[in-house]
Amino acid sequence: MLTCNKERIQNKIETFSTFGDAGHGGITRFSLSEEALNARTEFVKRMREVGVETVTDDMANMYATLHGTEANLPSIVMASHCDSVRNGGNYDGILGVITAMEVVETIATEKIPHRHPITAMIWTNEEGSLYAPAMMSSGVVCGKFEKAKMLASKSPEGKTFGEALKQSGYVGDEANRLTPKDYMAMLELHIEQGPVLEAEKKQIGVVEGVVGMVNYRIRTYGQSDHAGTTPMPYRKDALLAAASALKYLHAELDKLDSDLVYTTGEILCHPCVHTVIPDFVDFSLDARHQNPEVIKQVVKIIKNMPKEFDKCEVKYEEAWARSTIEFNEELVSLVQKSADAYGYTSKRMYSGAGHDAQYVANLMPTTMIFVPSKDGHSHCEPEFTSVDECLRGINVVLQTVLEIDKN
Ligand SMILES: [Zn+2]
Repeated sequence: MLTCNKERIQNKIETFSTFGDAGHGGITRFSLSEEALNARTEFVKRMREVGVETVTDDMANMYATLHGTEANLPSIVMASHCDSVRNGGNYDGILGVITAMEVVETIATEKIPHRHPITAMIWTNEEGSLYAPAMMSSGVVCGKFEKAKMLASKSPEGKTFGEALKQSGYVGDEANRLTPKDYMAMLELHIEQGPVLEAEKKQIGVVEGVVGMVNYRIRTYGQSDHAGTTPMPYRKDALLAAASALKYLHAELDKLDSDLVYTTGEILCHPCVHTVIPDFVDFSLDARHQNPEVIKQVVKIIKNMPKEFDKCEVKYEEAWARSTIEFNEELVSLVQKSADAYGYTSKRMYSGAGHDAQYVANLMPTTMIFVPSKDGHSHCEPEFTSVDECLRGINVVLQTVLEIDKN
């Protein structure tokens, strides 16, 4: 079996870890920041070393294409992102870019014959750390977001994404965008960002799709009164009601499928003063599962929740929702076949996190490959995947690209 180069992968991981090095094992590399531009320069340099030139599109997405033997065929693309969250790790996103580079480098240096062009790609602003929303540029290219609105997105300092884009020097031609005409399939390798592969001692995650989700706001309405002068039986405490509602929801949601995950991560309490009984609380409920039927049951539980807890009225509102995205079955099978061919252990799974690949899936055959995350940590500095684990994932991508090339 063909294999990529472990030392070269290690070298790339170490080199890219220096761009935005926060000094304690992780990075802060916001999209289009100086640190991210350094990562882009390194990408261009390394691709040029194997004879591959890089172009960009109007969202500064980068495309480095190795020509195949048949000039008119569409390209096979491997893509991920090189930006991070604040104090993120050295693997989220960038490992997919390193994978794309490594596969191109392997095919170029080993002179592996291939008919289709093969493209290593970087998506701009996947994390949305400075400029919301996340997956901004794939959203624009795939028709999910309006470009003008995205250009107006402001950082906390008041700079627009459009200004940052212009200053980056990486704005290219809209004609260079990823399209189903010029590209036949996209693969994205990513760290799992969860504990399952490691816990089950599986080396490769064969990703079948991205789970659907709903996000609700639950609100409780009470009465503000003096914290010292209002005896307990006279109170309408909106925070107590919110706690009761949350306990109720947990008890009911736990009766559903064990793969369901749900989270309350945000809570607003009014007036949020320690001497005042709260009169209003608003909290989030994010629930995710691959089966739309389970999500329907979640919604049913929310809608059937008692209208009153602890003498306070309770209301709910859907904030947003997304359907489960199913990746291309043929590609998923090819990934499975490639993992099996190397003798790697694998697990079929859904991604609980969002990725650029989920938007690209609307445009062309797309799938993802996961590698294990140590202790399941991600979006934090301890994020870690060993170079051996990376190599296995990258080999699976290499093999899958070469299988797609036969079509
Ligand atoms: Zn990512």
